[in-house]
Amino acid sequence: MSVWALLVAAGAGERLGEERPKAFVKLGELPLLAEPLRRLEESEWIDAIVVAVPEDWEEPVILLAEELSASKVVAAVRGGGTRAESVRAALAEVPEEALVVLVHDAARPLLTEEVLERVLAPLSEGWDGVVPGLPIADTIKEVDGDRIVATVSRDKLVAVQTPQAFLAPKLREAYAGDLEGATDCSSLVQACGGRVKVVQGDRRLLKATTREDLELIESWIAT
Ligand code: C5P
Repeated sequence: MSVWALLVAAGAGERLGEERPKAFVKLGELPLLAEPLRRLEESEWIDAIVVAVPEDWEEPVILLAEELSASKVVAAVRGGGTRAESVRAALAEVPEEALVVLVHDAARPLLTEEVLERVLAPLSEGWDGVVPGLPIADTIKEVDGDRIVATVSRDKLVAVQTPQAFLAPKLREAYAGDLEGATDCSSLVQACGGRVKVVQGDRRLLKATTREDLELIESWIAT
């Protein structure tokens, strides 16, 4: 099975309040992006990696990959204006013969081999896609401005993370269509009739959105 990983790192990450794009904010000595890149490189599940980066960050990523001896990195491409457009740009680099494509947010650095196995294994059991999800602890409300209009039962809800794994032809089909409003890949695969399974996620796959998130992720790396 040939598995291609798309690492999407083209977001601006304005909420971190830094000049540089989020994936290039320092996590310890190296840019944030280095942690998930190294983990994908070291994974026995992954054969090749494509990174989507903001305009003019292609060369720094290739240099970073060299510094990390990340020889699975095949290309660094310019991402798009939305996450979905960045995925589409990276997907264009994946050869026809690839069987599986795994998409991961660079902003979730703490990727583990266990999660990779959990999302990849069900693809040989008839699923088109597999995503990691976590149960919701809080009570969820539907609002209209600041007025609560309904309480949503959380029993049937999960919070979905990345990495998300797909059969390559199904992901291509999903990304050939309209990308409007898609915040993850599985919603597009579902929209074109794909069967997507949810498996247990990992709290440490937190998406770094704020400075506090980054500090928490740094402390987890240290333990
Ligand atoms: O913006 P958000 O936090 O949802 O981004 C999730 C992931 O998608 C991040 O790793 C970010 O770099 C990536 N992204 C991207 N291109 C965009 C927007 C987000 O690659 N235009």
